[in-house]
Amino acid sequence: MPDERRPVLSVEEAREHILAAVRVLEPERVSLLEAEGRVLVEEVAADRDIPPLANSAMDGYAVRGADVAQPPALLRVVGEVAAGHVSDVVIGPGDALRIMTGAPLPAGADTVVRFEDTRQDGDWVEVLNPYLTGKNARAAGEDVRAGQVVLEPGKVLRPQEIGMLAAVGRTEAAVVRRPRVAIMATGDEVVSPDQSPCPGQIRDANSYIVAAQVRRYGGLPLLLGVVRDEEALVREGMREALAQKADLIITSGGVSVGDFDLVKQALAADGEMHFWSLNMKPGRPLAFGVIGPSTSSGRSVPLLGLPGNPVAAMISTELFARPAILKMQGFADWPRPTVRARLREPIVRKDGRRHYLRVRLVDTDAGYEATLTGDQGSGILQSLVQADGLAVIPEEVHRLPAGTYVTVILLD
Ligand code: AMP
Ligand code: MG
Repeated sequence: MPDERRPVLSVEEAREHILAAVRVLEPERVSLLEAEGRVLVEEVAADRDIPPLANSAMDGYAVRGADVAQPPALLRVVGEVAAGHVSDVVIGPGDALRIMTGAPLPAGADTVVRFEDTRQDGDWVEVLNPYLTGKNARAAGEDVRAGQVVLEPGKVLRPQEIGMLAAVGRTEAAVVRRPRVAIMATGDEVVSPDQSPCPGQIRDANSYIVAAQVRRYGGLPLLLGVVRDEEALVREGMREALAQKADLIITSGGVSVGDFDLVKQALAADGEMHFWSLNMKPGRPLAFGVIGPSTSSGRSVPLLGLPGNPVAAMISTELFARPAILKMQGFADWPRPTVRARLREPIVRKDGRRHYLRVRLVDTDAGYEATLTGDQGSGILQSLVQADGLAVIPEEVHRLPAGTYVTVILLD
């Protein structure tokens, strides 16, 4: 039952509230091997030209273009240069220097004739095809000029940006640090996965689902374990999270109506809390607030209180914690890849809420087709294990015949 005392929010309204309370974290310096997927906070300029010298793009002969414009040309082989070496030979008219890919062009040469276009006989080489001047020669600085800005602040570092950092001589990069995300499960019935549950008990799946999501989105999960439904214990968990310098706290359980209102009681004393009823399914109840500022650190830490059902916990993390974690790391945008897919079966949902249905996708010649992964209950973890994505059924849509196109958020 919706709780009349709780504000009813759309997914977008809730996300806006949460993002408004979250700030970008401070930078840190990391080695290049740690930099992938991070957001750069500095401007990076090249310390020198890349390539530093004019060089060969092919294995062949460095020559004067004028000598090879008209075949046949017979040239004298005056030596050889490999990559990593600089030849002091000066190429005069009629000269050719054997050269390997990447080796600097000798003085006087402006063109490289590929081995495949020649026939060498002793100290002489015959060029069989006509060549344009400049062919197979790379100019100094043709990729990057000394002093040129190659990466701007805000850039997300992908493998190619990491390569550019290495190319301009950086071994480290200044990036936004990763958020530390404390994760706490609540519930008298919840036990850790290494235990044998007694009757009425259930193992803690949520902490591990959420930790895996946090890590996937670049955060550092700190597992606080399972806390019993007692206000003092939940508050102790919060203090532990602050002591561990959490930047975000995520709890699961204890936010439903008719629950012990546990997170609410525990937090009312320590910060400002909101309890929302979201117009979505699964995952109607959500708590969000800010703990602190703590007396020791002076910092305020946002807290997200997820519903206890594992499917609701995971989807809520996806919709609300993920953008917060990405914003903290300096990302400017956090869209999730979606595809359009045709429903293989009819769907009826008349409650006016936005549904996130777990679907399996089949890639057909006519595009993607979506089938529901069985029981869509918010406690049915199998419905997620089988799923490739979440089909989004808008609030105002009540009846979708088979064949209707829906938007599916890809989970991978
Ligand atoms: P709650 O939101 O606390 O009312 O919990 C809703 C349902 O989710 C109950 O059936 C709980 O047993 C279950 N649940 C709560 N926490 C967890 C957890 N950490 N792992 C798996 N199931 C949970
Ligand atoms: Mg509970």
